[in-house]
Amino acid sequence: LLAPDGTVAATIFAEMTALAGRTGAANLGQGFPDVDGPDFLKEAAVAAIRDEPNQYAPGSGVPALRRAVAAHQQRHYGLQADPDTEVLVTVGATEGIAASIMAFAGPGDEVLTLEPFYDSYAAIIALTGATHRTVPMRPAAGGFRIDPDDVAAAFTDRTRVLLVNSPHNPTGTVLSREELTALAEQATANDVVVVTDEVYEHLTYGAEHIPIATLPGMAERTLTISSAGKTLSFTGWKVGWVHGPAELVTGVRTVKQFLTYVASGPFQHAVAKGLDDDGRTASYVSGLRDSLWQRRDFLVGALEEAGFAPLAPQGTYFVAADAAGLGHDDAATLCRELPELAGVVGVPISAFCTPGGAVAESLRSWVRFTFVKSPEVLERAVEGLQRLR
Ligand code: PMP
Ligand code: GLN
Repeated sequence: LLAPDGTVAATIFAEMTALAGRTGAANLGQGFPDVDGPDFLKEAAVAAIRDEPNQYAPGSGVPALRRAVAAHQQRHYGLQADPDTEVLVTVGATEGIAASIMAFAGPGDEVLTLEPFYDSYAAIIALTGATHRTVPMRPAAGGFRIDPDDVAAAFTDRTRVLLVNSPHNPTGTVLSREELTALAEQATANDVVVVTDEVYEHLTYGAEHIPIATLPGMAERTLTISSAGKTLSFTGWKVGWVHGPAELVTGVRTVKQFLTYVASGPFQHAVAKGLDDDGRTASYVSGLRDSLWQRRDFLVGALEEAGFAPLAPQGTYFVAADAAGLGHDDAATLCRELPELAGVVGVPISAFCTPGGAVAESLRSWVRFTFVKSPEVLERAVEGLQRLR
C-alpha cells in the first residue's frame, strides 16, 4: 500500500483526477459520470432526509432497500433472496468486497482474481494477509478473454476465495457462459467461496450479463455484490449490497459491522425507490445504456483514427486501447505526458496489475479511457488525441 519512496500512495483514480484538475485536461481517467442520475431519485433522497429518521439505519440496511434488492435479483436473474437473512446493504460495493474478503480469507490463504483487476482488490487482499493469485486476461479479437487452462492452474489447495468481476473493469469484458463455467467448475471442485463484483451489471452493449450465481450449484457458494453508483449514476451516494446464502452473508455482516457499522440511511431509502420496478428506473437505465453505447462507439472510432488499437468493450464505462502503434510502449509514461500532448487524462492498464508482474509487462502499452463523460468532454478529448499521430 506504500509508494516506492515509503509515502502513502493515493489511488490511481484520485491521482489522475488531480492531474486533470491541475492541467485542465479532459478527464477520461476516473470513471464517474459528469451528469447525475435522475431527478426523481434526488427528490426521493430529499424526501427521505425530511421524512425518515436521520439516525443509524438497521445494521443490515433499511428493510425497504433489502426488499428491493431481493426483488431486483428475482426480476432480472430469477435468483431467490430472503431480504432478512440473505441481503446486506454496504457502503458501496467497495465495502461489500472488503468485508467479504476479510470474512473468508486470512494469512496462509489464497485469493484468486482475474488480472488486470480493480485496484481495491489487491489492497484488501494485502490487508487480510492472504496471498493474491491471478488468472491472466489476454487481448484477442473478441476482447480480453480468459483461458480455462489458466483457470485450472491458478487454483491451489490454499485457495479460499475466487473474486470474479464481470462486466470487468478495466477491460470492459463481459465474461461468457463458457468462461464463467470454467471458473464455476474450479470453484466447486476446490470448494471455495465465490465473491462476484457486478457493479456494471446493467451497462452492457449487446452482450448478456450472466451472474455467476445463476450457474448450476453456484448460488449456494456465491456472494453477489453490486451498487447503485453505476446503475443509477449516483456514485457519490455509496450505497451497495451483498446477496448470498444466509450463512455467508452472516460472515460478511460480522466484519462489516466493525468497518462502518452502517451508513447513508436516507440514501438507502432513495435507492430502494430506484430499484423499485415502477418503470422510471428501467427507462432511465435503458436510456443510459443506449447513450453509453453510442459514446463507446464514438470513442473507439476516434481512438482508432488517432492510431491506438482499442478493443471495443462489451460493458462498463471503459475502453482499453494499445498505444504501441503510436510508438508508445510504456503507457505509464504516456499517461503522465498525455495532458500536455493531447489535453487528455487516461489510466495505464498496468495500474490494475501486480507491479512488475507478467500481466503488467504484457499490457505495458495499454491505456484505459472512460467514455462516461458528456459529449462535449469526449469531443474535446478526441480532438486532442488526433494530435498524437
Ligand atoms: N468494483 C468495480 C469494478 C468498480 O469499477 C468500482 C468503482 N466504480 C467499484 C467496485 C466501487 O463501487 P462503489 O462506488 O459502489 O463502492
Ligand atoms: N471505479 C472508478 C474507476 O475505475 C473509480 C472509483 C474510485 O475512485 N475509487 O475509475
